[in-house]
Amino acid sequence: MTFLFNSDARRGEIFRQALADELPDLPFAMDASKVDPDAVRYLITWTVPEDIARYRNLEILFSIGAGVDQFHIDTVPQTVKVVRMVDEGIIRMMQEYICLGVLALHRNLPAYLKQQRQQLWKALPQRQAEDCRIGVLGLGMLGVAALERLRTFGFPLAGWSRSPREIDGVTCHHGDDGLKAILSTSDILICLLPLTDETTGLLNAQRLSLLPDGAALVHAGRGRQLDHGALLDALDKGRLSGAVVDVTDPEPLPEDHPFWTHPKILLTPHIASVTQPHSAARTVVENIKRHESGLQPLGLVDRRRGY
Ligand code: NAP
Repeated sequence: MTFLFNSDARRGEIFRQALADELPDLPFAMDASKVDPDAVRYLITWTVPEDIARYRNLEILFSIGAGVDQFHIDTVPQTVKVVRMVDEGIIRMMQEYICLGVLALHRNLPAYLKQQRQQLWKALPQRQAEDCRIGVLGLGMLGVAALERLRTFGFPLAGWSRSPREIDGVTCHHGDDGLKAILSTSDILICLLPLTDETTGLLNAQRLSLLPDGAALVHAGRGRQLDHGALLDALDKGRLSGAVVDVTDPEPLPEDHPFWTHPKILLTPHIASVTQPHSAARTVVENIKRHESGLQPLGLVDRRRGY
Protein backbone atom coordinates (compact mmCIF):
# COMPACT_ATOMS: atom_id res chain seq x y z
CA MET A 1 0.00 0.00 0.00
CA THR A 2 1.52 3.37 -1.03
CA PHE A 3 0.63 7.07 -0.94
CA LEU A 4 1.87 8.77 -4.11
CA PHE A 5 2.48 12.53 -4.03
CA ASN A 6 2.46 14.16 -7.47
CA SER A 7 3.18 17.84 -6.89
CA ASP A 8 6.09 20.10 -5.88
CA ALA A 9 8.81 18.56 -3.73
CA ARG A 10 8.74 21.26 -1.02
CA ARG A 11 5.11 20.54 -0.23
CA GLY A 12 5.84 16.84 -0.67
CA GLU A 13 8.31 16.85 2.23
CA ILE A 14 5.62 18.31 4.51
CA PHE A 15 3.21 15.58 3.45
CA ARG A 16 5.91 12.94 3.89
CA GLN A 17 6.46 14.06 7.49
CA ALA A 18 2.76 14.27 8.33
CA LEU A 19 2.13 10.77 6.99
CA ALA A 20 5.22 9.37 8.76
CA ASP A 21 3.96 10.84 12.07
CA GLU A 22 0.32 9.80 11.75
CA LEU A 23 0.27 6.81 9.40
CA PRO A 24 3.73 5.22 9.76
CA ASP A 25 2.64 2.01 8.07
CA LEU A 26 1.70 3.80 4.84
CA PRO A 27 4.73 4.09 2.52
CA PHE A 28 5.13 7.50 0.87
CA ALA A 29 6.47 8.08 -2.66
CA MET A 30 7.09 11.13 -4.81
CA ASP A 31 8.62 9.48 -7.87
CA ALA A 32 5.96 7.67 -9.88
CA SER A 33 8.62 5.93 -11.98
CA LYS A 34 10.03 4.17 -8.92
CA VAL A 35 6.78 2.94 -7.44
CA ASP A 36 4.95 -0.33 -7.97
CA PRO A 37 1.71 0.93 -9.58
CA ASP A 38 -0.29 -1.92 -8.04
CA ALA A 39 0.72 -0.73 -4.56
CA VAL A 40 -0.66 2.81 -5.00
CA ARG A 41 -3.88 3.23 -3.01
CA TYR A 42 -3.85 7.02 -2.60
CA LEU A 43 -2.71 9.67 -5.07
CA ILE A 44 -2.60 13.44 -4.53
CA THR A 45 -2.17 15.62 -7.58
CA TRP A 46 -3.26 18.86 -9.29
CA THR A 47 -4.18 17.20 -12.58
CA VAL A 48 -5.14 13.62 -13.32
CA PRO A 49 -2.08 11.76 -14.67
CA GLU A 50 -2.57 10.50 -18.24
CA ASP A 51 -1.56 7.02 -17.11
CA ILE A 52 -3.97 6.86 -14.17
CA ALA A 53 -5.25 3.48 -15.39
CA ARG A 54 -1.94 1.88 -14.36
CA TYR A 55 -2.87 2.40 -10.69
CA ARG A 56 -5.29 -0.50 -10.72
CA ASN A 57 -5.79 -0.52 -6.94
CA LEU A 58 -6.20 3.22 -6.48
CA GLU A 59 -8.86 4.02 -3.87
CA ILE A 60 -8.75 7.82 -3.49
CA LEU A 61 -7.62 10.52 -5.89
CA PHE A 62 -7.02 13.69 -3.85
CA SER A 63 -6.98 17.11 -5.49
CA ILE A 64 -4.28 19.35 -4.06
CA GLY A 65 -6.62 22.29 -4.67
CA ALA A 66 -10.08 23.28 -3.44
CA GLY A 67 -11.69 22.66 -6.84
CA VAL A 68 -11.67 19.67 -9.17
CA ASP A 69 -12.52 21.51 -12.40
CA GLN A 70 -8.94 20.93 -13.60
CA PHE A 71 -9.59 17.17 -13.37
CA HIS A 72 -11.14 15.35 -16.31
CA ILE A 73 -13.18 13.25 -13.93
CA ASP A 74 -14.37 10.99 -16.75
CA THR A 75 -10.82 9.67 -17.06
CA VAL A 76 -10.84 8.55 -13.42
CA PRO A 77 -12.06 4.96 -12.97
CA GLN A 78 -15.53 4.83 -11.36
CA THR A 79 -14.19 2.79 -8.44
CA VAL A 80 -11.91 5.65 -7.35
CA LYS A 81 -13.21 8.28 -4.93
CA VAL A 82 -12.36 11.83 -5.98
CA VAL A 83 -11.77 14.17 -3.04
CA ARG A 84 -11.19 17.93 -3.17
CA MET A 85 -9.16 19.82 -0.58
CA VAL A 86 -11.25 20.88 2.40
CA ASP A 87 -8.68 22.65 4.47
CA GLU A 88 -8.76 25.27 7.21
CA GLY A 89 -5.88 27.17 5.54
CA ILE A 90 -7.84 27.56 2.29
CA ILE A 91 -10.91 28.73 4.21
CA ARG A 92 -9.02 31.31 6.27
CA MET A 93 -7.25 32.79 3.23
CA MET A 94 -10.50 33.04 1.28
CA GLN A 95 -12.17 34.81 4.20
CA GLU A 96 -9.35 37.36 4.18
CA TYR A 97 -9.54 37.85 0.42
CA ILE A 98 -13.31 38.29 0.32
CA CYS A 99 -13.20 40.83 3.15
CA LEU A 100 -10.35 42.63 1.37
CA GLY A 101 -12.31 42.73 -1.89
CA VAL A 102 -15.63 43.75 -0.36
CA LEU A 103 -14.10 46.47 1.81
CA ALA A 104 -11.99 47.79 -1.06
CA LEU A 105 -15.11 48.17 -3.20
CA HIS A 106 -17.32 49.38 -0.36
CA ARG A 107 -14.76 52.07 0.61
CA ASN A 108 -14.08 53.17 -3.02
CA LEU A 109 -10.46 52.02 -3.09
CA PRO A 110 -10.16 51.90 -6.93
CA ALA A 111 -11.32 55.54 -7.12
CA TYR A 112 -8.95 56.63 -4.32
CA LEU A 113 -6.02 54.86 -6.02
CA LYS A 114 -6.83 56.82 -9.17
CA GLN A 115 -7.02 60.05 -7.18
CA GLN A 116 -3.67 59.29 -5.55
CA ARG A 117 -2.06 58.96 -8.98
CA GLN A 118 -3.59 62.36 -9.84
CA GLN A 119 -2.46 63.84 -6.49
CA LEU A 120 -6.10 64.67 -5.83
CA TRP A 121 -7.14 65.01 -2.16
CA LYS A 122 -10.92 64.65 -2.29
CA ALA A 123 -13.45 62.76 -0.15
CA LEU A 124 -16.05 60.79 -2.08
CA PRO A 125 -19.61 60.11 -0.86
CA GLN A 126 -19.61 57.04 1.39
CA ARG A 127 -22.51 54.59 1.69
CA GLN A 128 -22.87 52.93 5.10
CA ALA A 129 -22.53 49.15 5.51
CA GLU A 130 -26.20 48.65 6.38
CA ASP A 131 -27.10 50.10 2.95
CA CYS A 132 -24.67 47.92 1.01
CA ARG A 133 -26.26 44.54 0.21
CA ILE A 134 -23.87 41.66 -0.27
CA GLY A 135 -24.78 38.60 -2.35
CA VAL A 136 -22.66 35.45 -2.39
CA LEU A 137 -23.00 32.99 -5.29
CA GLY A 138 -22.12 29.59 -3.84
CA LEU A 139 -22.98 28.60 -0.29
CA GLY A 140 -20.38 25.88 0.09
CA MET A 141 -17.40 25.66 2.40
CA LEU A 142 -15.99 28.97 1.17
CA GLY A 143 -19.18 30.96 0.59
CA VAL A 144 -20.50 30.24 4.07
CA ALA A 145 -17.10 30.99 5.65
CA ALA A 146 -16.94 34.32 3.78
CA LEU A 147 -20.43 35.25 4.99
CA GLU A 148 -19.42 34.52 8.59
CA ARG A 149 -16.66 37.13 8.40
CA LEU A 150 -18.72 39.70 6.46
CA ARG A 151 -21.43 39.50 9.10
CA THR A 152 -19.27 41.48 11.56
CA PHE A 153 -19.36 44.60 9.34
CA GLY A 154 -23.16 44.91 9.38
CA PHE A 155 -23.83 44.38 5.66
CA PRO A 156 -27.23 42.88 4.74
CA LEU A 157 -26.30 39.38 3.52
CA ALA A 158 -27.74 37.03 0.91
CA GLY A 159 -26.54 33.82 -0.73
CA TRP A 160 -27.37 31.54 -3.65
CA SER A 161 -26.94 27.81 -4.03
CA ARG A 162 -28.31 24.97 -6.10
CA SER A 163 -30.31 23.40 -3.27
CA PRO A 164 -32.35 25.31 -0.64
CA ARG A 165 -30.32 26.42 2.40
CA GLU A 166 -31.04 28.10 5.72
CA ILE A 167 -28.33 30.23 7.26
CA ASP A 168 -29.00 32.45 10.23
CA GLY A 169 -28.98 36.12 9.22
CA VAL A 170 -28.58 35.37 5.50
CA THR A 171 -31.38 35.59 2.91
CA CYS A 172 -30.94 32.34 1.03
CA HIS A 173 -31.93 31.90 -2.61
CA HIS A 174 -31.62 28.91 -4.90
CA GLY A 175 -32.27 27.84 -8.47
CA ASP A 176 -33.01 30.02 -11.51
CA ASP A 177 -35.55 32.30 -9.85
CA GLY A 178 -33.25 32.67 -6.88
CA LEU A 179 -30.45 33.78 -9.17
CA LYS A 180 -32.52 36.67 -10.55
CA ALA A 181 -33.51 37.64 -7.01
CA ILE A 182 -29.96 37.71 -5.66
CA LEU A 183 -28.54 39.52 -8.69
CA SER A 184 -31.14 42.28 -8.52
CA THR A 185 -30.47 42.89 -4.81
CA SER A 186 -26.67 42.68 -4.58
CA ASP A 187 -24.73 45.92 -4.38
CA ILE A 188 -21.59 43.82 -4.10
CA LEU A 189 -21.79 40.40 -5.72
CA ILE A 190 -19.26 37.74 -4.76
CA CYS A 191 -18.73 34.67 -6.94
CA LEU A 192 -17.53 31.57 -5.08
CA LEU A 193 -18.98 28.91 -7.34
CA PRO A 194 -17.24 25.78 -8.57
CA LEU A 195 -16.69 25.58 -12.33
CA THR A 196 -19.16 23.15 -13.89
CA ASP A 197 -21.06 23.02 -17.18
CA GLU A 198 -23.85 24.97 -15.46
CA THR A 199 -21.66 27.72 -14.01
CA THR A 200 -19.47 28.22 -17.10
CA GLY A 201 -20.35 31.65 -18.52
CA LEU A 202 -22.87 32.25 -15.72
CA LEU A 203 -21.84 35.89 -15.26
CA ASN A 204 -22.71 37.06 -18.77
CA ALA A 205 -23.97 40.42 -20.03
CA GLN A 206 -27.62 39.58 -19.43
CA ARG A 207 -27.04 38.51 -15.82
CA LEU A 208 -24.68 41.40 -15.04
CA SER A 209 -27.42 43.72 -16.34
CA LEU A 210 -29.68 42.50 -13.52
CA LEU A 211 -27.35 43.93 -10.86
CA PRO A 212 -28.41 47.27 -9.34
CA ASP A 213 -26.91 50.42 -10.86
CA GLY A 214 -23.45 51.04 -9.45
CA ALA A 215 -23.04 47.48 -8.17
CA ALA A 216 -19.60 45.86 -7.93
CA LEU A 217 -18.18 42.35 -8.27
CA VAL A 218 -15.68 40.23 -6.37
CA HIS A 219 -14.80 37.28 -8.58
CA ALA A 220 -12.91 34.47 -6.85
CA GLY A 221 -14.56 31.37 -8.33
CA ARG A 222 -13.08 30.44 -11.71
CA GLY A 223 -12.24 32.62 -14.70
CA ARG A 224 -14.52 30.85 -17.16
CA GLN A 225 -17.60 31.77 -15.10
CA LEU A 226 -17.24 35.44 -16.07
CA ASP A 227 -17.69 36.99 -19.52
CA HIS A 228 -14.71 39.35 -19.34
CA GLY A 229 -15.97 41.54 -22.20
CA ALA A 230 -19.37 41.92 -20.54
CA LEU A 231 -17.72 43.07 -17.31
CA LEU A 232 -15.58 45.62 -19.17
CA ASP A 233 -18.62 46.90 -21.04
CA ALA A 234 -20.65 47.31 -17.83
CA LEU A 235 -17.75 49.11 -16.10
CA ASP A 236 -17.06 51.39 -19.06
CA LYS A 237 -20.73 52.34 -19.38
CA GLY A 238 -20.81 53.15 -15.65
CA ARG A 239 -23.48 50.50 -14.97
CA LEU A 240 -21.10 48.75 -12.58
CA SER A 241 -18.71 50.68 -10.34
CA GLY A 242 -15.80 48.30 -9.82
CA ALA A 243 -14.50 44.77 -9.66
CA VAL A 244 -11.97 42.75 -7.71
CA VAL A 245 -10.88 39.89 -9.93
CA ASP A 246 -8.70 36.99 -8.79
CA VAL A 247 -9.47 34.42 -11.48
CA THR A 248 -9.45 34.95 -15.24
CA ASP A 249 -9.54 33.04 -18.48
CA PRO A 250 -6.82 32.47 -19.51
CA GLU A 251 -4.41 32.61 -16.59
CA PRO A 252 -2.18 34.52 -16.83
CA LEU A 253 -3.94 37.14 -18.94
CA PRO A 254 -2.22 38.21 -22.18
CA GLU A 255 -0.12 41.36 -21.72
CA ASP A 256 -2.51 43.57 -23.73
CA HIS A 257 -5.64 42.48 -21.81
CA PRO A 258 -7.66 45.51 -20.59
CA PHE A 259 -8.02 44.07 -17.05
CA TRP A 260 -4.33 44.85 -16.37
CA THR A 261 -4.80 48.60 -16.56
CA HIS A 262 -8.51 49.17 -16.05
CA PRO A 263 -8.98 51.88 -13.37
CA LYS A 264 -12.06 50.17 -11.95
CA ILE A 265 -10.52 46.70 -11.68
CA LEU A 266 -8.28 45.43 -8.91
CA LEU A 267 -6.60 42.33 -10.35
CA THR A 268 -4.79 39.60 -8.42
CA PRO A 269 -3.10 36.49 -9.89
CA HIS A 270 -5.29 33.68 -8.51
CA ILE A 271 -3.97 34.03 -4.98
CA ALA A 272 -7.24 34.48 -3.07
CA SER A 273 -6.63 31.18 -1.38
CA VAL A 274 -3.71 28.83 -1.70
CA THR A 275 -3.45 25.30 -0.29
CA GLN A 276 -1.43 25.44 2.94
CA PRO A 277 0.73 22.31 3.05
CA HIS A 278 0.70 21.72 6.82
CA SER A 279 -3.08 21.94 7.25
CA ALA A 280 -3.67 20.21 3.89
CA ALA A 281 -1.48 17.29 4.98
CA ARG A 282 -3.44 17.03 8.26
CA THR A 283 -6.68 17.01 6.25
CA VAL A 284 -5.45 14.23 3.97
CA VAL A 285 -4.27 12.14 6.93
CA GLU A 286 -7.67 12.59 8.56
CA ASN A 287 -9.41 11.57 5.34
CA ILE A 288 -7.33 8.41 4.94
CA LYS A 289 -8.18 7.49 8.54
CA ARG A 290 -11.87 8.12 7.84
CA HIS A 291 -11.74 6.04 4.67
CA GLU A 292 -9.94 3.18 6.40
CA SER A 293 -12.54 3.10 9.16
CA GLY A 294 -15.39 2.94 6.65
CA LEU A 295 -16.41 6.63 6.71
CA GLN A 296 -16.70 8.86 3.64
CA PRO A 297 -13.80 11.31 3.24
CA LEU A 298 -14.57 15.01 3.76
CA GLY A 299 -14.74 16.81 0.41
CA LEU A 300 -15.90 13.75 -1.54
CA VAL A 301 -16.84 14.95 -5.03
CA ASP A 302 -20.24 14.05 -6.44
CA ARG A 303 -19.31 13.05 -9.98
CA ARG A 304 -22.82 13.74 -11.29
CA ARG A 305 -22.82 17.37 -10.07
CA GLY A 306 -19.15 17.86 -10.94
CA TYR A 307 -18.17 19.43 -7.57
P1 NAP B 1 -18.38 23.70 -2.37
O1 NAP B 1 -18.27 23.51 -0.90
O2 NAP B 1 -18.45 22.52 -3.25
O3 NAP B 1 -19.67 24.62 -2.61
C1 NAP B 1 -20.13 24.96 -3.87
C2 NAP B 1 -21.37 25.80 -3.73
O4 NAP B 1 -21.77 26.23 -5.04
C3 NAP B 1 -22.57 25.04 -3.14
O5 NAP B 1 -23.30 25.86 -2.29
C4 NAP B 1 -23.38 24.67 -4.38
O6 NAP B 1 -24.77 24.52 -4.15
C5 NAP B 1 -23.16 25.90 -5.23
N1 NAP B 1 -23.40 25.58 -6.63
C6 NAP B 1 -22.71 24.74 -7.45
N2 NAP B 1 -23.29 24.70 -8.67
C7 NAP B 1 -24.35 25.53 -8.62
C8 NAP B 1 -25.36 25.89 -9.54
N3 NAP B 1 -25.37 25.42 -10.79
N4 NAP B 1 -26.31 26.74 -9.15
C9 NAP B 1 -26.33 27.22 -7.88
N5 NAP B 1 -25.40 26.92 -6.94
C10 NAP B 1 -24.43 26.08 -7.32
O7 NAP B 1 -17.18 24.61 -2.92
P2 NAP B 1 -16.19 25.56 -2.10
O8 NAP B 1 -15.21 24.75 -1.35
O9 NAP B 1 -17.01 26.56 -1.35
O10 NAP B 1 -15.38 26.25 -3.29
C11 NAP B 1 -16.05 26.98 -4.30
C12 NAP B 1 -15.10 27.31 -5.43
O11 NAP B 1 -14.22 28.35 -5.07
C13 NAP B 1 -14.15 26.20 -5.87
O12 NAP B 1 -14.80 25.21 -6.64
C14 NAP B 1 -13.16 26.98 -6.69
O13 NAP B 1 -13.66 27.16 -8.00
C15 NAP B 1 -13.15 28.36 -6.00
N6 NAP B 1 -11.87 28.59 -5.31
C16 NAP B 1 -11.11 29.63 -5.72
C17 NAP B 1 -9.90 29.88 -5.10
C18 NAP B 1 -9.07 31.06 -5.47
O14 NAP B 1 -7.92 31.16 -5.02
N7 NAP B 1 -9.57 31.99 -6.24
C19 NAP B 1 -9.45 29.05 -4.07
C20 NAP B 1 -10.27 28.00 -3.67
C21 NAP B 1 -11.47 27.77 -4.31
P3 NAP B 1 -25.34 23.36 -3.17
O15 NAP B 1 -25.02 23.84 -1.76
O16 NAP B 1 -26.78 23.34 -3.43
O17 NAP B 1 -24.59 22.11 -3.53
